[in-house]
Amino acid sequence: MSKVLIIGAGGVGGVVTHKCAQHPEVFSEILLASRNEEKCKAIAAQLDRPIQTARVDADSVDELVALIESFQPDVLIHVALPYQDLTIMEACLRTGVPYLDTANYEHPDEAKFEYKEQWAFQDRYAKAGNMATLGCGFDPGMTNIYCAYAQKNLFDEIQRIDILDANGGDHGYPFATNFNPEINIREITANGRYWEKGEWKETAPLAEKRTFDFDGIGEKDLYLLYHEELESLSRNIKGLERIRFWMTFSDKYITHLKVLENVGMTRIEPIEVNGCEISPLQFLKAVLPDPASLGPRTKGKTNIGVILDGIKDGQRRKVYIYNICDHEACYREVQSQAISYTTGVPAVTGAMLMLEGIWKGDGVFNVEQLDPDPFMERIGEMGLPWQMVELDPDHDPLA
Ligand code: NDP
Repeated sequence: MSKVLIIGAGGVGGVVTHKCAQHPEVFSEILLASRNEEKCKAIAAQLDRPIQTARVDADSVDELVALIESFQPDVLIHVALPYQDLTIMEACLRTGVPYLDTANYEHPDEAKFEYKEQWAFQDRYAKAGNMATLGCGFDPGMTNIYCAYAQKNLFDEIQRIDILDANGGDHGYPFATNFNPEINIREITANGRYWEKGEWKETAPLAEKRTFDFDGIGEKDLYLLYHEELESLSRNIKGLERIRFWMTFSDKYITHLKVLENVGMTRIEPIEVNGCEISPLQFLKAVLPDPASLGPRTKGKTNIGVILDGIKDGQRRKVYIYNICDHEACYREVQSQAISYTTGVPAVTGAMLMLEGIWKGDGVFNVEQLDPDPFMERIGEMGLPWQMVELDPDHDPLA
């Protein structure tokens, strides 16, 4: 019987709260806190059991510490924005509460997509005997755990990894992003980057394109992007030669994005408009549909997985592990679309394993550093069943 504090009442926060509420045997008390308490109350009203709500500015360590001290949680799930990672980690450290998030720290003014500042907490967490679990959503998160599972159970050495993230969903709008638009657009407009033979290689944004036939979705165009799990996986999967990340985008999406970019709307740096400082990207976020509002409109499926290529018992082996998730089924269950669902369910599963002492350790951990087996056993019943297919090691589906 444990208390969970959830920070952030957006799309993912809604799923996390629903899923925690479905498991009173683990999460006996829930407090959902966010910048705007009305959003917490709206999520609370969707549930069958009572939870507490609060307002907190997660940019303020003092406010966070005061909230944590008054509620005394056993674990904190951070699903606000990546800008708040460091303040929330600091507050958890000061109060001795285990921490879990789904995205690496981002500076509000500059997209870096790196773990450096969170890994810098390692010594202080280890010394305090506290645990921080980083990147426990789907990607990063589930994809890292698929890799760790393959490393532990399926391969002697993994040499190449391709992470494939496909969204076959349609929300009916000409243009909208499925999760926080600022973070989404920052990811896509940045240079592509992948890791090969110990070096980072850069590509122009969306320059590398492939087509892949996804189970449950069909053929889709994939684009090479940099994604944060490449940084930790390239360190933690021993013997790795190459790791790349691919995401699907429709032509319609790319055309809108190119226009927005060409007119300067994806810039982060503030500009002055009638005496007001305004960041074009933050303004764009304000005029686009709220990702949380896409749930009831979205039809179709996601398919996210990992192709792993390496050696087992002296033979080449290629394995594809993936999950298919249905937007409408997610909405029926937790009133949210599959992007938020596939992020929130691993976060709750990771928090459960931490509370049960199955995932334990002193320090800061990326999820692939923790035992993948109990997670892989439980994630299906939590809502994200996985499938595994042997591929022909001599055929490259991304050639
Ligand atoms: P949303 O923008 O929908 O929700 C973010 C929530 O955080 C909002 O409720 C927002 O409040 C709240 N918030 C923002 N700033 C503060 C603050 N200073 N103090 C308190 N609350 C604050 O985002 P999502 O739910 O889509 O994403 C949540 C997290 O999940 C993000 O970090 C995102 O990067 C990550 N993510 C990870 C994925 C993965 O697979 N690993 C995939 C998708 C998302 P308000 O409502 O007032 O704006």
